[in-house]
Amino acid sequence: MLRVGVVGTGMIGQDHIRRLTSVLSGARVVAVTDVDTTLAARVGGAVGAVVHPTGEDVIAACDAVLVCSWGPSHEQYVLAAVAAGKPVFCEKPLATTASACRRIVDAEVFHGSRLVQVGFMRRFDDAYRKLRNEAGGGAIGAPLLMHCAHRNRDVPAYYRTEMAIVDTAVHEFDMVRWMFGEDIVAIRVLVPRSNRNGHGLQDPLLIILELANGILVDVETSVNIRYGYDIRGEIVGENGTLTLGGPVPVSVTWQDRFADAYDTELQEWIDAVAASGQPNGPTAWDGYAATAVCEAGVQSLRTGERVEVVLASRPSLFLS
Ligand code: NAP
Repeated sequence: MLRVGVVGTGMIGQDHIRRLTSVLSGARVVAVTDVDTTLAARVGGAVGAVVHPTGEDVIAACDAVLVCSWGPSHEQYVLAAVAAGKPVFCEKPLATTASACRRIVDAEVFHGSRLVQVGFMRRFDDAYRKLRNEAGGGAIGAPLLMHCAHRNRDVPAYYRTEMAIVDTAVHEFDMVRWMFGEDIVAIRVLVPRSNRNGHGLQDPLLIILELANGILVDVETSVNIRYGYDIRGEIVGENGTLTLGGPVPVSVTWQDRFADAYDTELQEWIDAVAASGQPNGPTAWDGYAATAVCEAGVQSLRTGERVEVVLASRPSLFLS
């Protein structure tokens, strides 16, 4: 039984603790922490986990770690887990800047084997896996274009326009890299007429991604669309098109739409770590690449220009 520690017991931390405790097999939550100590005591107490004062204490008290605190704290905890030689599943983003992600990549390379997995759960969604298998199997010839839509019913008052790139479209950035096995080399963010439900946000956005092999991807983010949570994708190939299927075309929340994907993501992580001590899902390099696209996207939003995404050279640990 893998003894898991959880850093951050907010919304997604609680949801992961629920699935580790009641849905999945092979793991139990033994340690938790949160800056909100009352919350940590309530959430940890409900599953019999020990509540620790710091993330570093949690790392010391478990076999493997889930980092579910807010983004700016991820680097500290992921680096501490790598220094301790413990597998760590970090919710996206791996870190909030590309340079912080590089420090994690470098630490893992120094360690010498994989420890870090990033929470890009679309790779574990049945509909996306089917689409990738069909596209990769040559069903429509060479892919040329992909159209994506990422629509939310509404967003909280603290949501800022940049978050449509770094919190929302980041899932598409990782998904297309995985879908086509190609890096994103440039991004352009276009700002159409704004939705009056957006309370001053620039919403929707239309994001154009250029992949290294020439595929173009457009991503619509609409975060005040009112009718529900709606994730779409269509690949245009030389001989036809493929459309992202179910499980449900339109759902109420992202938790409903990706519930099975989150379960699969964490069960596969538990199984891989239990079998080999190493995760086999999205890597620290994938986290770095996605954050680098986000940084370029925010720059494009500000300037209106096409911005190139320049990555460092990929260490051999991340060549598959
Ligand atoms: P949340 O509800 O605000 O929970 C985060 C928790 O971490 C809060 O209780 C927060 O306490 C705590 N925290 C902040 N800094 C900490 C620190 N240094 N050490 C320990 N705990 C700390 O946020 P959330 O929605 O769960 O999101 C957490 C992370 O998961 C974010 O990175 C988010 O992007 C990611 N996420 C991913 C997905 C996905 O689809 N993969 C979905 C949702 C969220 P305070 O509130 O007191 O600051």
